Amino acid sequence: MSAKVTLRDLLNEKLDIFCWCHNCGHNKVIETIKVLNKLGPYYPIPEIGRNLRCRKCNKTDNISTRPNWPDHKGQLTRHMM
Ligand SMILES: [Zn+2]
Repeated sequence: MSAKVTLRDLLNEKLDIFCWCHNCGHNKVIETIKVLNKLGPYYPIPEIGRNLRCRKCNKTDNISTRPNWPDHKGQLTRHMM
């Protein structure tokens, strides 16, 4: 099995995809299911950026993607309150 995290893994974990553009700093969270429908369940997360275009500067060559990890600290704080 590959160690790469795929779209299917994200769907299982109920995580969305966080992407950002290194050219202009624009960032966005995309729903995993929308990307999965387009690229298939076994597409590796770090390579999704190749298929994206920045809405702000319209460039495609410098976009990174990663799982949109939840903020555990924030959740803990809320729970304690
Ligand atoms: Zn941009």
